[in-house]
Amino acid sequence: MRAYKGAGLSSFKRIDRHLSYDRLMNALRYLSGYPPDILEQVHRLIAARRLHATLAQRHPDRHTVRNDRILLDYVGDLKARYLKSAPPLAKVMYDNRLQAVRQALGTHTAVSRVQGNQLKAKREIRIASVFKDAPASMLRMIVVHELAHLREPDHSKEFYALCRHMQPDYHQVEFDTRLWLTALEIEGDAGSKEGSAIATDARTHEDR
Ligand SMILES: [Zn+2]
Repeated sequence: MRAYKGAGLSSFKRIDRHLSYDRLMNALRYLSGYPPDILEQVHRLIAARRLHATLAQRHPDRHTVRNDRILLDYVGDLKARYLKSAPPLAKVMYDNRLQAVRQALGTHTAVSRVQGNQLKAKREIRIASVFKDAPASMLRMIVVHELAHLREPDHSKEFYALCRHMQPDYHQVEFDTRLWLTALEIEGDAGSKEGSAIATDARTHEDR
């Protein structure tokens, strides 16, 4: 392993013969857009088979949000604390089809319809079921992301400021969540071969 220290992406095939190149590239798509030096650190952790262990160490916190009923309370508590005046949520649920079908880890949907002379918006948040087994900080990150869209539809500066207000280390946790998903795929425990977005907002855009 030492001989490959500092190896870039192109030489990854040599770093770990047990890992198919296609599978690795598929997993690493969660990290596209991050700077090369960061990716190289990740590659080293993967090569040393230390990615999962490193994340487990950094996020030892578990959560008990195991079903839709508890998720509804969990999201409701956060909303009451930070977004009291935002529109109410019509539905909150885990969705085990999100990653496979919608290629998303979370969605926020706003359906508007005119009722009589009133415009009614129905808001819905779905969280990919993979987060049932994620560290607590990562579930919080994806919920915070979708909640922030109640107020800020786009990924603007204001959007991320709101995310950081609800979770000060939001950006670090988002990055670690991408690493966690990468680790899951590489180790074959879970995850979907199709999923490629960390969250999708049905009306507007995907978070890749
Ligand atoms: Zn988003």
